Amino acid sequence: MWLFDLVPCAAFETPGSRARMAKRVACTACAIAVSVVLAGCAGSSESGDHPNVVRIEASEQSPANTAPASASAQSSGEAPAASQNSAELPVSDIALSSAASAPSASAASSASSEDNKEQAKKLFKKLGIKQDFRKEFVHGDKPAKYQKYIVLHDTEGDGSAEGVIDYWDGSDAGVAAHFVVNKDGSIVQCVKLDKITHHAGFGDTGHNKKYGVEDESRDDKEGTVEIGSDFADYGMNSYSIGIEMVHVGGSGDYPKKQLEALDGLIAYIDTYYGKESKIIDHKAWRSGNSDTSEEFADYLKNYQDHRSYKKASSKS
Ligand SMILES: [Zn+2]
Repeated sequence: MWLFDLVPCAAFETPGSRARMAKRVACTACAIAVSVVLAGCAGSSESGDHPNVVRIEASEQSPANTAPASASAQSSGEAPAASQNSAELPVSDIALSSAASAPSASAASSASSEDNKEQAKKLFKKLGIKQDFRKEFVHGDKPAKYQKYIVLHDTEGDGSAEGVIDYWDGSDAGVAAHFVVNKDGSIVQCVKLDKITHHAGFGDTGHNKKYGVEDESRDDKEGTVEIGSDFADYGMNSYSIGIEMVHVGGSGDYPKKQLEALDGLIAYIDTYYGKESKIIDHKAWRSGNSDTSEEFADYLKNYQDHRSYKKASSKS
């Protein structure tokens, strides 16, 4: 995370991970989660597979609705009044993606957008995603056409998603991810898909160009601090969705329920946008980060190959 060089790593250690943490570098948002454990505010862990908790507030509001397909990063705004329909899904975002490149095909794409919208709604319900939006996590608008990557993280703590989000909110560090996936497969979303949040932070120098995420001043950079020429690039947040998995590197395998939930979440994001975002992990963006863990390496390859943790041969 972008603050990670500014905060002593020791602050993020858990009693049981001191040795490991000494060897690793954890990103701020991920590492902050560790403090949740230390603070004893692990929060209530959800029981059951996918809690039906859903506190659907405004839901995913699609900027595409109002944003000019043209270009400027001008935001469509939060569409404050709107929001009822939340369920929020995406039609418009999907329509925008298609319309932006092929305006003349708008009729056809709109038909398929409807299909996608329905499918995305179904996936959303099936996953039982709990929405708990925090406006403090939002750092600007991210119209659908800017969506390029899904960046995977580990929280580096065992605290629940709910506890992690509360901690982010109270830390004033300005960091968060769009989703946090609990070990039991329950998912909490705290930032809308069409908003920028700080989960990837600065990358290795040259990565903005390498990843095609030149910033263009779309992110408001609120709360960010220049940390030197070695880590000068900053654009990833403006082009990505961040997903944190509750996991401590080196602690063992990821539970099947958590991985199944991640499969479903990625499918939902793909459907929402009507396109497949490239999947990377945090350490790909900034080398030296600890996440994702070594035990996730094979899963990451599988996700990048066919968007599931399962081996291709066992794909159902
Ligand atoms: Zn991270």
